[in-house]
Amino acid sequence: MQAPAITNALTIDVEDYFQVSAFAPYISRSDWERRECRIERNVQRILAMLAERQIRATFFTLGWIAERYPALVRDIVAGGHELASHGYGHERASDLDLQAFHADVTRAKGLLEDIGGVAVKGYRAPSFSIGTGNLWALETLLRTGHRYSSSIYPIAHDHYGMPDSPRFAYQTEQGLLEVPVTTLRLFDRNIPSSGGGYFRLLPYGVTRWMLQRLNRTEREAAIFYFHPWEIDPAQPRIDGIDAKTRFRHYVNIDRNEAKLARLLGDFRWGRMDDIFLDRQPVLSSATLANAV
Ligand SMILES: [Zn+2]
Repeated sequence: MQAPAITNALTIDVEDYFQVSAFAPYISRSDWERRECRIERNVQRILAMLAERQIRATFFTLGWIAERYPALVRDIVAGGHELASHGYGHERASDLDLQAFHADVTRAKGLLEDIGGVAVKGYRAPSFSIGTGNLWALETLLRTGHRYSSSIYPIAHDHYGMPDSPRFAYQTEQGLLEVPVTTLRLFDRNIPSSGGGYFRLLPYGVTRWMLQRLNRTEREAAIFYFHPWEIDPAQPRIDGIDAKTRFRHYVNIDRNEAKLARLLGDFRWGRMDDIFLDRQPVLSSATLANAV
């Protein structure tokens, strides 16, 4: 008998092209208000792609975006998707002290819940910026009513990562569930297999092979992520940036929507909370009898 197909988590980090961490040295926050926003067009496009395929996903949304585009937040919820938090202003958690982090995640959660009318359970730190140096942030998330985080990337990378952390969902010492984005274990290293720039860079067949291997061999759900600006070849170009940043941001952006469409069709997808939170403990018949 064939094993049942595994449902993978589809996640979208809702921020605009000028808010990505790699552009921070080039675009000041005070300049954000003056930039042409592309977020509505791009998120609507994603919502249409998902509706067409009856896929539900998790949208880790910036408070800054929610404040300016409340109708978009309501459309995400109306589409049957999970509304989750990406913090307020896309500041790396590792750049904030406890007080500032507490304020940032509280503000974002409050805004999203007021606008969306649903409880926000999940949080993803900008640029996966929780790691060895700031694990206290997990306790703050728990205290502010979050139920899971997807913020610790178990790889070595120049901007983020905690290579020795677990690859699959785990209960942290701080008591919060951490659901890391997907890596593949190859040649004694964890290889990023979860989306973002790597998905655009690698041929589609490589990603498909990695996720198939994860589902079939390891019998685990993948956690895949992308950004709305990654399906927008017409976004205004940022001038004067260094070659590495330019490459990472724009590589294969013109082909990415079609690539994503294939990925959506080739695997089974769902929301983070449906996959990782709603596993109710199995009650024995004796417990059930006592409960009556
Ligand atoms: Zn982000």
